Parts: sequence; C-alpha cells; structure tokens
Amino acid sequence: MQMSYSAQLAAKETKVRDALTRIGGLDLSDVSVAPILGMDDPCRYRNKEQVPVGTDASGNPVFGFFAEHTHRIVPMPEYDCLLGDAGNAAILKAVRSWLLQYSVPVYSEETHTGLIRHVLMRTAGSGETLVCLVCAREKVPHLDALVQALLNLGVASVCLNVQPKPDNVILGPHTEILSGSGRITDTIGKLSFSVSPNSFFQVNRTQTEKLYAKALEFADLHGGETVWDLYCGIGTISLFLAQKAAKVYGVEIIPQAVADARENARLNGLTNAEFFVGEAEKKVPEFYEKKHPGNASGGTDEAGTEDQALTPDVMVVDPPRKGCDRQLLDTMVRMSPKRIVYVSCDPATLARDLKILTGSGYRLTDVQPVDMFPETMSVECVTRLQKDS
Ligand code: SAH
Repeated sequence: MQMSYSAQLAAKETKVRDALTRIGGLDLSDVSVAPILGMDDPCRYRNKEQVPVGTDASGNPVFGFFAEHTHRIVPMPEYDCLLGDAGNAAILKAVRSWLLQYSVPVYSEETHTGLIRHVLMRTAGSGETLVCLVCAREKVPHLDALVQALLNLGVASVCLNVQPKPDNVILGPHTEILSGSGRITDTIGKLSFSVSPNSFFQVNRTQTEKLYAKALEFADLHGGETVWDLYCGIGTISLFLAQKAAKVYGVEIIPQAVADARENARLNGLTNAEFFVGEAEKKVPEFYEKKHPGNASGGTDEAGTEDQALTPDVMVVDPPRKGCDRQLLDTMVRMSPKRIVYVSCDPATLARDLKILTGSGYRLTDVQPVDMFPETMSVECVTRLQKDS
C-alpha cells in the first residue's frame, strides 16, 4: 500500500515475467504478454470482510486485523477497512454497541475464553448485505437485540456460525440463520450466484468479470465444444463457459461447493454443465483410465458422450496456489485438448506447470495478468496454450 497504484501494477507485471522466464525457463519472444488489467479505483473492491474481534488493554472491544504472526489485533480507524464495503463500518459499530450494552464477552485467541470471535460481512453488487457472527459457542445472549440493530441498518440476512476449535480457521461447520434467507444473490456478467457465509466466491467482482471474459476469449468457444473446468469452486467459470459450449464438466474437492455449483446452474437455467466432487488429480485420471476405449475394463456405454468427455476441445484449470499435480498435467496431455486455459493465482507454480505443458506438445500463446487484489502482493494470470499441430 506504500506504493502508488501504477508502481504496484508495474511490479506485478515484472513478477509474472520473471517467474515465467526464470522458473519456467520460457522464451517469451513469441508469447503475447499483455499489460496487466488494473482497476480504475483500487479501493473498496472486496465484497467479503472477515473482521476479528478482540479487546484492547482496557478490556474494550476492538475490531481490526491481526498483526503478522500474532494474535494482537490492530484496530481499524473508524471501523473502516479501505478495501471493504463502505457500509461495513456501521455494521461493526452496531456490533460494538451491542457488546458493550449487554456485556457480551469477546473471545481471546490467547486464552481461548470468551464468545464473539469474528464478524463476517458479504455485500452483493446490488447492495444486499449478509452478516454472520462467528462465536465460540452456540448459546449467545441477547441475539434478538443485535439482529434488530442490524436489520435497522438495512442488512438483508443475519447468521450465527459456531467455531469452537481453538485454531485459526475462521468458520466452523454449523451456521444458523437468525434472519432472512442466510444467502445473498450476486452477479458476475449475466449470471447470478447464490452465496452463503461459507461459500467460496471471488471477492473482487469487477476484476473477476475481466478475468472470466479473458478465460472465455482464450477458450474460443463456438457452441459445439466439450470443456472441462478443473478446480471449479461453485461453478462460476464453468457456467460462463456453458453459455458458449455444448457441454462443461466441472471438478471440485469441496462437496458443498459442488452442491452450490449445481444450484447455480439451475438458477441460471443452464442444463449442459455437470459437476463431480473429488480431487482433480485423482478424479480426472480415474475417469480417463476407466473410460478410455483402449482400456479393457472401460468402454463407453452411453453412446458418444463419454468419448467426447475423453477428448475435450478445451480444458480450463484454476488451481489454488500450489498449482496442478503432475498426475493431472500428464492426464490432460493424454486427453489432448486443442486448448488449455490456465488461470493461476501464483506465478511461480504457474511457471513450473507451464514448463511441463510446453515440454509435452503445447505452445504458450497468451499471458494476461489481472490485478484481482490491489494493495496486496498477489497477482492473478490467465494463460492460453495451444496444442502443437
Ligand atoms: N474457479 C473457481 C474457484 C477457484 S479457487 C472460481 O473462479 O471461483 C480453487 C478451487 O480449487 C477451490 O474451490 C478449492 O476448493 C478447489 N480445490 C483445491 N484443491 C483441489 C483439488 N485437489 N482438486 C479439485 N479442487 C480443488
């Protein structure tokens, strides 16, 4: 944040080029590396804020963020994070008033005592807001008063999540709806997504639209294609692709995310997307081994469709920071799609994986860095590989 925004963008472009050339050993002279897509206004882009609650030296509640490698909360001036929604400060002030009025105990990360741990806030592009209070136990006194105060601010839904574990995972498995539907509906492009407190959803809507538009452009779909979307989350990219493809198969490790993906397909009236739960590096090779026509135990019983799934036109991957497993990359090469679109949040693992793919019959044609997280060190990339003819 101490750098000007233009200097941040330049540093991120350099980071991408350096990783591709030094780690990937790639010659970029024949590759189109486009200038990074930045934001017009690099503040207030986050649609989700998860704010820890603690106490100051005098025992008063504070809201802020943890100082690095500590449990010490650095309070936010005026309860306002400049990356988050401007309406969140009023929500945090209402929570603070409630804590003080009813002497509700705040959780301590050091002693693991107390009750209130985090305030999670999600805001849709329409302004619809959901607040989820994260507590160490189920029994919370005077919740009605808090819910009423939040509803008075125009909050659409209030939830309570219980996280009894003393670790640093913010949300626990159980969420109770206190008011409203427990979900908000957000849009990316023309598609709608139903988002709950636990859902994974891209935090920067403006930049996500740019990223997905690029992924779609690189996929170069004309309506008849079969596409795989690996690490598909709640199916956001899959459904973008499904608007232009004949069939999309998504794979994702978190069962709830797959349930959300199926629900989102239904919500958008898209019937040509199918989702599988599992690890991409296991699920895709298993599918390939079992169904491959050359395999004695395989064969295709459902006429044609599985053949097409085995020989897709395009494969999209969007892995977490650790990148793709070698076994998955090897299977992708064997499935031999015409194009691979690799979306990455870590240039180093992207470069490592591109080295493998470019050494296995694919040519890197395009790299598009996108600034999904201004004021941070992160840089996202969408890249396109073409099968050598
Ligand atoms: N493409 C989605 C999500 C990308 S985040 C979007 O744009 O919204 C990466 C996703 O990969 C997460 O949803 C995570 O749960 C999932 N994931 C992590 N490891 C995985 C694995 N081994 N196999 C399949 N999915 C995995």
